[in-house]
Amino acid sequence: MQPDLPRTDVANAEVLLWQTGYRLALALLAGIIAVGLRSAGILTLSSVASVAVGPDAANAVLGLVATMYVALVLVIRALVQRTRTAGRSVSTLMVVADLVVVFLLVFLLAEPTNYHRGLLLALFSLQLTHVYFGRAPALLMLVAIAAAFLLIHDIAQRYTTVVSWPEALTTLGLFGLGALLVIRVQSGLHARLGALVAIFARAEEGDFTYAYDVAADTTPDAITAVGRAYNRMRAQLATIVQTDPLSGCYNRRGFEQQYRRELARAARTHTHLSLLAIDLDFFKVVNDTHGHLVGDHVITQTGALLRASARTDDIVARIGGEEFVILAPNTASHGAEQLAERVLDAFRSRRFGEPKAEVAITVSVGVVSEAVSDESIAEALRSRADEALYAAKRGGRNRMVVWSHGLDTWRVPSTGAEEPAATP
Ligand code: GH3
Ligand code: MG
Ligand code: MG
Repeated sequence: MQPDLPRTDVANAEVLLWQTGYRLALALLAGIIAVGLRSAGILTLSSVASVAVGPDAANAVLGLVATMYVALVLVIRALVQRTRTAGRSVSTLMVVADLVVVFLLVFLLAEPTNYHRGLLLALFSLQLTHVYFGRAPALLMLVAIAAAFLLIHDIAQRYTTVVSWPEALTTLGLFGLGALLVIRVQSGLHARLGALVAIFARAEEGDFTYAYDVAADTTPDAITAVGRAYNRMRAQLATIVQTDPLSGCYNRRGFEQQYRRELARAARTHTHLSLLAIDLDFFKVVNDTHGHLVGDHVITQTGALLRASARTDDIVARIGGEEFVILAPNTASHGAEQLAERVLDAFRSRRFGEPKAEVAITVSVGVVSEAVSDESIAEALRSRADEALYAAKRGGRNRMVVWSHGLDTWRVPSTGAEEPAATP
């Protein structure tokens, strides 16, 4: 499974910026060569241009077009540099300008028998468009190239008799076929690179659910190798990014991801989901009495104990300093209460801390269970679990409270539990 490539105006801007550099360099080089060849008498105006617009006007148009093209490239570059974004219209304008310049130059400087030079030059622009902006713009451009090629032939035909339509159409047909083949081969490359970029973008957000589809690459190449390497690292990366190092449980980021997934699954399969909010009682006292190092040990041991109390399908996460949650998929209130009791008992019968393991700790647990019908319940379930946890604290700690409609956290009878001595 692979996500779609997010094509952003920002990414377009980056590409357009370096491309304008190439365009300016090429325009300069072409200009220098053209002036040299013209003064040496090698490059002359085409007979069609001389007849159609006259030598003086043709020369003026040449200079004007070259100047306008360079000015346009500079303006677009300045604009993109300032806004750092480039929408479709800016890229389109640039490509259209390329084509106009290419075919105008060919029209002014080449005889109709050499108009195919325009196709050769346009191929470079077509390639740039395809690699960096995708298949659809490239196909559109191919149509535009064909139209420009036919147009200059049509104009030439009005002023000279040397236009051979069968020749022109054959050349265009061959060019179109070749260009389509190139686009087809490159599209696969483009799509696979895009898939990789999208996978990496997800990974950057801590989402490692997507693997690169190595099996789909019938002719493995460098892209496949990168995909394969990513797949090998994926599990390790996911563990590092989604795990809390102290407790060994999921961290908040990992939990959010699992929570979204389990909610969606529960909504799809119409099953129950339970959430337990767990908070260590009087943990501050542990830190104050035994020090933070022992406190840290208690958190490490708490993580292990919670994981041991839960089922393998349950998701145990540390979402705050000494606050944990257990997400129990496919579990209704009866099962959730049993799980909460198991957790409470496990803490009651256990001593924590290193090296002497002498600290008694209890926990308070808020329980909520829901037959999930849609995922929008996410926030409500979290706050209900918190409300129930709060009620358990108010009720004297070392207990669980199951959330129900009308649960009044202030009314839960207090047992008057005293703050315990950290060391029994
Ligand atoms: P309550 O029963 O009401 O939950 O009381 P409490 O003392 O557990 O709650 P309180 O929120 O007053 O204190 C939480 C303490 O947890 C304070 C904080 O220093 C400690 N704590 C949070 N994260 C860590 C951690 O990573 N390591 C250690 N050693 N202590 C932590
Ligand atoms: Mg606490
Ligand atoms: Mg707390």
